[in-house]
Amino acid sequence: MTRKEWKIRATARLSGTESPALAVTLLLCHVLGIDKVALIAHSEEEIPPRAEAELDALLERRLAGEPVAYLLGRREFYGRDFSVNSHTLIPRPETEHLIEAALEFFQGREEIRFLDLGTGSGCIAVTLAAERPSWHGTAVDISSGALEVAGANAGAHGVSDRVRFLQADFTKPMPLVGDGFDLVISNPPYISEEEYAALDDGVRNFEPRSALVPGPEGLEHPRAVEAAARALLKEGGLLLMEHGHLQGEACRALCPDAYWMDTRTGLDLAGKDRFLFAVRRFSV
Ligand code: GLN
Repeated sequence: MTRKEWKIRATARLSGTESPALAVTLLLCHVLGIDKVALIAHSEEEIPPRAEAELDALLERRLAGEPVAYLLGRREFYGRDFSVNSHTLIPRPETEHLIEAALEFFQGREEIRFLDLGTGSGCIAVTLAAERPSWHGTAVDISSGALEVAGANAGAHGVSDRVRFLQADFTKPMPLVGDGFDLVISNPPYISEEEYAALDDGVRNFEPRSALVPGPEGLEHPRAVEAAARALLKEGGLLLMEHGHLQGEACRALCPDAYWMDTRTGLDLAGKDRFLFAVRRFSV
């Protein structure tokens, strides 16, 4: 079968799923090891039988609802490719707002020390280190499977010497030493059990539940992130935490004025409440 024939057939089979033509193009490029330009320019070329079998197998997985990022084993985040697998959440574009807010707040400042709680694929920590070559960070996750992926991503983007990975439960005191962090950043699990039940099958059946749901209420881990940030940030340091679009007020309420200032909620591109911004107050 030619590339074009497989593409037409596969796109038809995927009708009813999200962006079928894009998914098929990505699968073809991935399996054949070519880019989109080559795919279009040489669409009449025959697909070798081994590659066709691989493509058919991936197509079946997509039909069963598996996200394209897991089929490819990667997803782009802030302009870089990140490896992902079933141990890690797939990075979301909303999370890029945390990166932008961090880069803006510390503009012109060198030697920042950051702490990423629940690093997953490592997309936040690795991106910060890659964007700012003088920044150093610690990235924590409870899952050894996730840390393996995050470590590989740090290596792939050349930041292994500046991001330290720590396997720990951030809802409990962590073995962290030093004089505190300038930035605590996190995209913690924040979905309530009720909201989880209403999520797409592609998310529920394939992404790790522990990366999405912290407990019945959804605020259990956001609360732990605030507690960790309160304890570990330097005075004047910044807390950035992603949350659900209905949790803006509840997350601001986690930050009492005695400890925090400039507490506010950042919006996502859809104009919805998306992340908490708070500065650790100087004690008097
Ligand atoms: N920090 C990772 C991300 O933003 C993982 C988040 C998570 O697993 N909750 O994708």
